[in-house]
Amino acid sequence: MLTIGTHMSIAKGLAKTAENVVRMEANTMQIFSRNPRGSNYKVYTEEELEKFQKIRKENQFGALLAHAPYTMNLASEKEKVYEFACTAIREDVARMDRLGIEYLVFHPGSHTGTGVEKGIQNIVRGLNQAVTGQEKITVLLETMTGKGTEIGARFEHLKEIRDGVLHPERIGICLDTCHVFAAGYDIVNDLDGVLAEFDRVLGLKLLKAVHLNDSMMPFGSHKDRHAAVGEGEIGLLPLLNILRHPALRNLPFYLETPFDDQGHKEEIRMIRERLQE
Ligand code: FE
Ligand code: FE
Ligand code: ZN
Repeated sequence: MLTIGTHMSIAKGLAKTAENVVRMEANTMQIFSRNPRGSNYKVYTEEELEKFQKIRKENQFGALLAHAPYTMNLASEKEKVYEFACTAIREDVARMDRLGIEYLVFHPGSHTGTGVEKGIQNIVRGLNQAVTGQEKITVLLETMTGKGTEIGARFEHLKEIRDGVLHPERIGICLDTCHVFAAGYDIVNDLDGVLAEFDRVLGLKLLKAVHLNDSMMPFGSHKDRHAAVGEGEIGLLPLLNILRHPALRNLPFYLETPFDDQGHKEEIRMIRERLQE
């Protein structure tokens, strides 16, 4: 069975959000682990949490994904930026694990001039103070477009991060279709080639989740602008091929496309219909 959902706002609480997932005819969701542009987070009541877990269980949701804030840069050399990133990842690994959320994804970060190697060292150090090895949650490194000094546009970067940490068994990969396409991995004409490369560098076993987005920007542009499925430079058929691929079809898929809940409901319905053909 297809596991698909979208990025959801949790402004109205976790239980309401889970209800909206059901209404959307989805069976999973991605949420922010805290305010994406600030630093604060809500503390949920027992009652709220119980209701959330009940809805999730009754509707047999697939693996849930939390996304760390965009302001978190674990690759940074700037003390304040780095300290916040370390605190946020440490707290959010623990907080999301307590919620029973399966995955926490984060953008590896930007080195802002100090170089990829230094950036990766900082990310590894940051992960080591956040991941104890005792948690159930798996932390996912997101594939990035490589805009500016962003780390993670090459599978090799992600491999180096995972290999560097104390608890690599708690680290996996989230593949963003828009990002890999913009980074120069040709998922349109050579999906099998890209997956073979992923397997060679990282191992396909590490791939735990897919962000299913089309790209407003052209192949290899290193620019990060998501488009609705079928309305960008990737196109509908290559994205359907990703959903159907034997190595990918059992993974959870999360849309991060520019729609509200109603638009996402229609997008998911369209995807399901096209997959039947
Ligand atoms: Fe992301
Ligand atoms: Fe993404
Ligand atoms: Zn993006």
